[in-house]
Amino acid sequence: MTTPTGPSPAPTRVLVLNSGSSSVKYQLIDMADRARLAAGLAERIGEETSAVSHQPLSTGGEKREWQGELADHDAALAAIAQELAADGLGLDSPELAAIGHRVVHGGLKLTEPTVIDDAVLAEIERLVPVAPLHNPANVTGIRTAQRLRPDLPQVAVFDTAFHSSMPEHAARYAIDVETADAHRVRRYGFHGTSHAYVSRKAAELLGRDGKDAADINLIVLHLGNGASASAVRAGRCEDTSMGLTPLEGLVMGTRSGDIDPAVVFHLGRVAGMSADEVDDLLNKRSGLLGLCGANDMREIRRRMDAGDAAARLAFDIYIHRLRKYIGAYYAVLGRVDAVVFTAGVGENAAPVREAAVAGLEELGLAVDGDLNAAGGKEARLISPASARVKVAVVPTDEELEIAEQSYALVTASPGPGPEGGAG
Ligand code: ADP
Repeated sequence: MTTPTGPSPAPTRVLVLNSGSSSVKYQLIDMADRARLAAGLAERIGEETSAVSHQPLSTGGEKREWQGELADHDAALAAIAQELAADGLGLDSPELAAIGHRVVHGGLKLTEPTVIDDAVLAEIERLVPVAPLHNPANVTGIRTAQRLRPDLPQVAVFDTAFHSSMPEHAARYAIDVETADAHRVRRYGFHGTSHAYVSRKAAELLGRDGKDAADINLIVLHLGNGASASAVRAGRCEDTSMGLTPLEGLVMGTRSGDIDPAVVFHLGRVAGMSADEVDDLLNKRSGLLGLCGANDMREIRRRMDAGDAAARLAFDIYIHRLRKYIGAYYAVLGRVDAVVFTAGVGENAAPVREAAVAGLEELGLAVDGDLNAAGGKEARLISPASARVKVAVVPTDEELEIAEQSYALVTASPGPGPEGGAG
């Protein structure tokens, strides 16, 4: 191929991959204008009933769905590449600047977005004991993508990174220091990409009111199926509700959140449950699901409206825990500019937002009924204009944040090395 005489345009596209043990979610984003070109999901990888659903967004085409067997992640990524190629967005395109990977656990060393080389990959693998469900799948996704485009920078963006600014008094558990350090037992926090994105967007929203971003204190409530709260001072995390694992903190869809650790020993002694069985109970059969048999807030609201007492109690327990964290983080920060709701429940469930701050006028907190009920896809304030502490809804966008961070990294470096090893 002949080289064109003029300079070729710099690549601006980022493929964002979120690899789970049996699924890969993806988005292709053009960072020139933040346009979403395609999005999709390959799921049930390794089963006979694997499926790919692909949404072409640049062409406005119909969603395409495919069913068959994807033996492994290589097959899944090949299927994704094929779907993208069918839209003229093939992964061999020179317009692709990077592949950005969501990586759940970066531990204490990987606290910034990082171009992946062998040493970074080894560190992600070293953290498998503290993230046994997530990091192995993330490593598989990275290796697969490296085989597909060995020449391209692959960037890891860590869910724990935003929380690495937590001071030691928030990050340490009050247990024997030697034991803790020997086994890396401390509070890391998760959902960091979302907390980072939402904090920045909330600061922009408040900035329009004349606030100085460097002096904004936020309580961010990421309420999805998993849920976490964080206390953010001037864009830096000071405390967050998830800990060594995503189990700690708020009541979630299927996770218990905070619990007396002695419950684990008690169930071992009196119910003969193994550690793995209690792990399964607390992570998968607890939270809203364990309390009332449903983990979707829409279903719980429907049941409450129909007079279901278990759904009512589950909602009340969920709200009680949320309010405790709002109070706790108010005290951690000393002064709060806004409480910010995000993710599936936080963005959509007006009754949750209302109940979370009801009766807290003494703390300067209130929601305006009409603004709260109004809905919308934009970041918005839902507190009365006179409120001392604002309440905001800020839709999260973890894929865009991963793309932003990956793109910023690869365009800032003097030029990625031939093996993407600029680490
Ligand atoms: P994940 O944690 O899986 O990324 P999301 O942030 O997408 O989840 O949140 C999913 C949850 O959001 C659902 O389980 C449901 O409880 C809740 N949800 C989604 N839409 C609504 C809605 N319109 N009203 C209330 N809750 C909703």
